Amino acid sequence: MPANLPRFARRFAGELPGDASTELRSRQVHGALWSEVSPTPVRAPRLLAFSRPLARELGLDEALFADRATAEVLAGNRLWPGMAPFAANYGGHQFGHWAGQLGDGRAIVLGELERPDGALVELQLKGAGPTPYSRAGDGRAVLRSSLREFLCSEAMHHLGVPTTRALSLCATGDVVVRDMFYDGNPKPEPGAIVCRVAPTFLRFGNFELPSARGDVALLRTLAEFTRRHFFAELPPPSAPTWAAWLHEVAVRTARLIAHWQAVGFVHGVMNTDNLSILGLTIDYGPYGWLDGFDPGWTPNTTDAQHRRYAYGNQPGIGLWNVERLGAALLPLLDGDEEPVHAALEAYRGAYAEAATGRFAAKIGLTFEAARGDGALLQQLLDWLAAQETDMTLFFRALASVAELPATPTTLPDAVQAAFYRAVPEAHTAAGVDWLRRWWARTRQEPRAPAEVAAAMQRVNPKYVLRNWLAQTAIDAAEAGDLAPLHRLLAILERPFDEQPEHAELAQKRPDWARDKPGCSALSCSS
Ligand code: AMP
Ligand code: MG
Repeated sequence: MPANLPRFARRFAGELPGDASTELRSRQVHGALWSEVSPTPVRAPRLLAFSRPLARELGLDEALFADRATAEVLAGNRLWPGMAPFAANYGGHQFGHWAGQLGDGRAIVLGELERPDGALVELQLKGAGPTPYSRAGDGRAVLRSSLREFLCSEAMHHLGVPTTRALSLCATGDVVVRDMFYDGNPKPEPGAIVCRVAPTFLRFGNFELPSARGDVALLRTLAEFTRRHFFAELPPPSAPTWAAWLHEVAVRTARLIAHWQAVGFVHGVMNTDNLSILGLTIDYGPYGWLDGFDPGWTPNTTDAQHRRYAYGNQPGIGLWNVERLGAALLPLLDGDEEPVHAALEAYRGAYAEAATGRFAAKIGLTFEAARGDGALLQQLLDWLAAQETDMTLFFRALASVAELPATPTTLPDAVQAAFYRAVPEAHTAAGVDWLRRWWARTRQEPRAPAEVAAAMQRVNPKYVLRNWLAQTAIDAAEAGDLAPLHRLLAILERPFDEQPEHAELAQKRPDWARDKPGCSALSCSS
């Protein structure tokens, strides 16, 4: 056993009521916020990748990851001293409907690690085997979805988007059977486990479940725990405290979603059990990145008909989810709906401010309503949506236009390269017209054009985890080649840097990927 193992606290399970039973079978768990459950061992744990920046933050020595015993811990076959595994109990609204108890059906928290700076973070294995919350599921996860969660968690962090993190990706050596297209053709796939990291994985659904069951005492206990550890700046418990807390969660959620919109991230399953109480991106499933800027796009085939969680709907769905949280907290608000309305208002305001600020920054401006920036932005977004135009390439290209010495009279090549197909003359003309007005507006900024362009490069990533890139890494990993995974992991640590040697990974979606599963559409099967 290496000497430099981290220390673990037992805060969640130590302070909150747990399940009296340790029975593994799927069941309803009442009066408890968690169940004691150990990961089910896997056949042949193997570390496929780990995040060096996160390991450093956690004070975990790199040498530890060369040790086979570490892979065994990160795949659930053994524990480090002080770990006390549990699964959390929560409910949620799925696709607009109350779904009752859900819970960690395949996620198991190993323990709360004490970082060198003293902060505690939960280490959680996803795919670690059945829990009392597994319902009809097997508690496992496949390589393709695990690789996607691992890479995207770290990519989002390096983009500056609040997110749960991913420490490691392990192969289990076991086979997991999935019907990937839900078409009656189940197939064996390689199993995998991601070790996720966050201060807490509490979701809106953790609060909804005791509230829906009328267990106000349990709801109150959980709210007080959450305030004490994660919102310590709030005053002691009282109805106004819970109102202020709801307000804060609403604002964080709004800002998070504004950030998603600005980078072109589509979560895909914004159910209330997948919304973090800390305002983190959580539960990477059938998420996707916009290639063409299309507000109606969703990566989730399960949602293809109603498009509830499409890119353009995310801000409104965030609001809907905050309303569900507010409704769940009513017993703590003495039944007063006013704070809920206030939180929704705060969400709207925070979203508008964050979204205009971020999109203005993407075009090099400090947002000023009086200069007509609102209309300028809206015209751009309408123009982008009118013809299939690569969002990431377009904004990255715009920086070079900012530096032109005179007003543009044509669409520069770099901008044209963002189109997926030939566009009508009128569309080009409208683009040039917009560019001219925007170029003139940039000249009113207090900064020199070169500085405007440099600032744009710092907010418009060159590299995002495009769906086809993730799929390339998955295909290779399934064939035993981990190089594309490791390459992507390294590139996505510096998403705003040019990295010219990797330019082919900044390309728009290639034609072969347009309709390929995993590249354009993903099912929830994972
Ligand atoms: P999701 O919407 O994918 O975050 O999952 C919704 C619920 O289904 C959560 O309670 C998960 O724990 C559970 N779940 C998803 N996949 C599995 C699985 N393979 N085995 C057990 N539970 C699962
Ligand atoms: Mg989930």
